[in-house]
Amino acid sequence: MVIVVKGTRKNPQVQELIDWIEQRNISVQATEGTQKTILGLVGDTSVLDIDTVKTFPVVEDVKRIQEPYKRANRKFHREDTVVEAGGVRLGGGNFQVIAGPCSVESEEQMCGIAREVQAAGARLLRGGAFKPRTSPYAFQGLKAEGIEYLTEAGQMCKMPIVTEIMSASDLELFHDVDIIQVGARNMQNFALLRELGKQSKPVLLKRGLANSLEELLMSAEYIMAGGNPNVILCERGIRTFETSTRNTLDISAVPVLKKLTHLPVVVDPSHASGHSALVEPLALAAVAAGADGLMIEVHNQPQKALCDGAQSLDCGQFAALMKKITALRALVTSFGAEEERV
Ligand code: PEP
Ligand code: MN
Repeated sequence: MVIVVKGTRKNPQVQELIDWIEQRNISVQATEGTQKTILGLVGDTSVLDIDTVKTFPVVEDVKRIQEPYKRANRKFHREDTVVEAGGVRLGGGNFQVIAGPCSVESEEQMCGIAREVQAAGARLLRGGAFKPRTSPYAFQGLKAEGIEYLTEAGQMCKMPIVTEIMSASDLELFHDVDIIQVGARNMQNFALLRELGKQSKPVLLKRGLANSLEELLMSAEYIMAGGNPNVILCERGIRTFETSTRNTLDISAVPVLKKLTHLPVVVDPSHASGHSALVEPLALAAVAAGADGLMIEVHNQPQKALCDGAQSLDCGQFAALMKKITALRALVTSFGAEEERV
């Protein structure tokens, strides 16, 4: 961080600012001019709030040169993080597909889909039990019963399970869940993120509908600062002026995040597009861009799905897509694309 202040160290207010910074274990290198002094800060400046620095009357300008996130930052952790859940590794060259319905609807539905997606090559099983719906009158999920069916299906197929949490007060119901998902609408639910930082299960953190990548990384930082390093980031499309898709898939988020952070990055082409016909091209684009995995909604009868049927692949479509994903992954890794970070 660089701070431009009015006057020199002879000004007691400048010295007061320097003392305030040094009390936070940050050293200050001052370069004095005739009218101004430039303070170069060395140390962990993530603990400094720019707005607080600006409240000192001698401060003219403040610039952060280091990102405000530390634990998620690739500069301090060069190696890719590999997240392990129920014996399945994701990240650092371990590409995984998470598949399953938007919502858990019944035991038969969940077990049937689990068998199909596993046979097609998915290693992780998803299914929503707590559903964040825009309308309070829409299906809200089977909650505890849904987690039970998902757990049974996962155990039957030996697939680790991923499901969304909406409130920290439900955490005890997630005992058998392998990866806890934080949905787009809760990306900045800081109380929830803090609670997830206090436990050790991996967290799949989805990008908010209107959040920058820096905000996504700051949310990851909340979880990591609490002591849980097992965070997987998920790009799932953002709100733009475009209306022909449900959201706009920000494909550049993949290489940008891979440069900024060591955390694994997965892409959800289902929520990004809102249309089953668009899931395949977006999934393949994500693979080509270097994603560490995909999260894809699959339903045995998309027309009858209680949630997100229009964007769900049927089991046959999913199996066909998996073949293309496998072929494209082989090509991408043969190019060594993962090493060539921007
Ligand atoms: C989901 O994955 O079921 C979901 C609700 O996604 P998002 O939070 O990205 O909308
Ligand atoms: Mn959905």
